Amino acid sequence: MAPTPELTARLEAALRARRAELRDELARELHGDDGLLELRSHRDETDPEISDPLDAVDMAQAMRDDAEFVRIDSALQRLAHGDYGVCSDCGESIDDARLLAEPTAQRCTACQQRFEHTHR
Ligand SMILES: [Zn+2]
Repeated sequence: MAPTPELTARLEAALRARRAELRDELARELHGDDGLLELRSHRDETDPEISDPLDAVDMAQAMRDDAEFVRIDSALQRLAHGDYGVCSDCGESIDDARLLAEPTAQRCTACQQRFEHTHR
């Protein structure tokens, strides 16, 4: 069974807010909407001693944010299809507490642990 409509609405709002936040962060980190291309050309026009380490940090952060962005989009897609809050592995419902802590969760606690165990 999927979460209650009230909880779903709350989680969807949280996901959308986080998504907007990430979009802004990504735009800032990549120095413009052209993304990686922009990041590379930006490197040539500033002091390399300062911009190189910063760019490496920005890049790592941008990649983390990008991965989170993908997870949020996937969660929003599951919301739209009505299979949000249902474990993608065993089909059981995911605990409300787990969804509140991690709105992008796509597996129940047991399956997530199994998944992390077999993918490391
Ligand atoms: Zn499961």
